[in-house]
Amino acid sequence: MTFALNQEERMLKDLVARFVREELMALENKVLARDAAGEGMAFTKEEQDRLDSRSKELGLWGLDAPEEYGGSDLPVTTMVAVNEEMGKTALQYRLPPDSPNLRMLMRVCNEKQTRQYLEPYARGEMKSAIAISEPGGGGDPAAMKTRAVRERDGWLINGRKIWISGVDKADFVILMAVTDAQKGARGGISAFIVDQGTPGFNVLRKIPMIGGHSTFEIALEDCWLPATQLLGEEGKGFGPMQLRLSTRRVQIGAWCVGRAQRALDMMVEYVPQRKTFGVPLSDRQAIQWWIADAATKIHATRLMVYDAAEKVSRGEEARTEISMLKVFATEMATEVIDHAMQAFGAMGMTKEMPFNAMAGHLRVMRIYEGPSEVHRMLIARHVLQKRF
Ligand SMILES: Cc1cc2nc3c(=O)[nH]c(=O)nc-3n(C[C@H](O)[C@H](O)[C@H](O)COP(=O)(O)OP(=O)(O)OC[C@H]3O[C@@H](n4cnc5c(N)ncnc54)[C@H](O)[C@@H]3O)c2cc1C
Repeated sequence: MTFALNQEERMLKDLVARFVREELMALENKVLARDAAGEGMAFTKEEQDRLDSRSKELGLWGLDAPEEYGGSDLPVTTMVAVNEEMGKTALQYRLPPDSPNLRMLMRVCNEKQTRQYLEPYARGEMKSAIAISEPGGGGDPAAMKTRAVRERDGWLINGRKIWISGVDKADFVILMAVTDAQKGARGGISAFIVDQGTPGFNVLRKIPMIGGHSTFEIALEDCWLPATQLLGEEGKGFGPMQLRLSTRRVQIGAWCVGRAQRALDMMVEYVPQRKTFGVPLSDRQAIQWWIADAATKIHATRLMVYDAAEKVSRGEEARTEISMLKVFATEMATEVIDHAMQAFGAMGMTKEMPFNAMAGHLRVMRIYEGPSEVHRMLIARHVLQKRF
């Protein structure tokens, strides 16, 4: 098995690297200064518009969207190269459309929903969010309580969702709810599509988080949806939701490789120049081992990402590999960035360097899309059952 990129893929990777360097890294000082001043890491409208128009101009929208909706239909393996480059910046910009919800919508949308939601989403004209987590269950989505019951040729939904990203900018939200409490995750959880502004879909508060993130709490209070808003088959929302989660986890693996590579590159550039006690830091074994370990673990993680992506592309079952990847990649990048911060000394502690923001993103990545401990539980379960 080889994971070498072909010429076209290398050209695309270079193009994304250029976009990241010229548009995102070039903006880092400005955004980090705003963050240090307590204003957060969100882009201004002008910055967002420029990033959108530049990335569109460069042909970087819809990379993995179907060609029939104007996309390039690139396979998951090629997206690894794209996401590795996108992971190198401390800023959080996603090329439209965001892949996880795209994959889920492609799996479940009927003809009408395709026209109304999937096509404009794939073209980057609509934004979406997904509401799975609840106050009583995040890491264990099968324990969700939000209830959808049939009423007036539609669904009446009541419940509460929390920690939901991107609700403020979403045109629609994919909402997971229980339609059969007896069956639970085995045929009792359905996916719905809720338009922004639907009565009863009440955004209660914005919750600031570390790493420049914000999430939202939502109350569903007698939120009535017409039958047309059911996504896919009743009770069969869990599988497509897992597909979505797997897509994000592979993406996270690639982002982590990018972040760790950036930290390593910065460390490699800095340590030969910095002398302490008359000797360059690069001559110290402690520093050399950080560099050797970082290079080794980045290489291992990159292979893990390509392996998982390859299996997903072939339609193979890869849940255990994806759990392994999520745990290993997030912990690997956390360690590499921490060592880079240490090598830079006090400079590594400033908010002028990208490390603090990168470390913050990594910290939340060890929680969202499943905490590390839950993934370890799943890996151990499969290994103990000799299924891996
Ligand atoms: C930045 C961010 C963005 C998010 N965006 C979204 C979003 O868009 N949509 C959405 O639906 N959700 C979102 N979430 C929620 C996220 O998916 C959940 O927070 C996550 O799944 C964990 O759920 P929880 O917070 O309820 O933790 P819990 O499930 O209560 O777990 C708490 C801790 O207990 C431990 N633990 C739990 N289960 C086990 C176990 N089986 N074995 C050992 N230890 C265990 C772990 O250490 C875990 O961190 C987001 C979260 C964050 C931080």
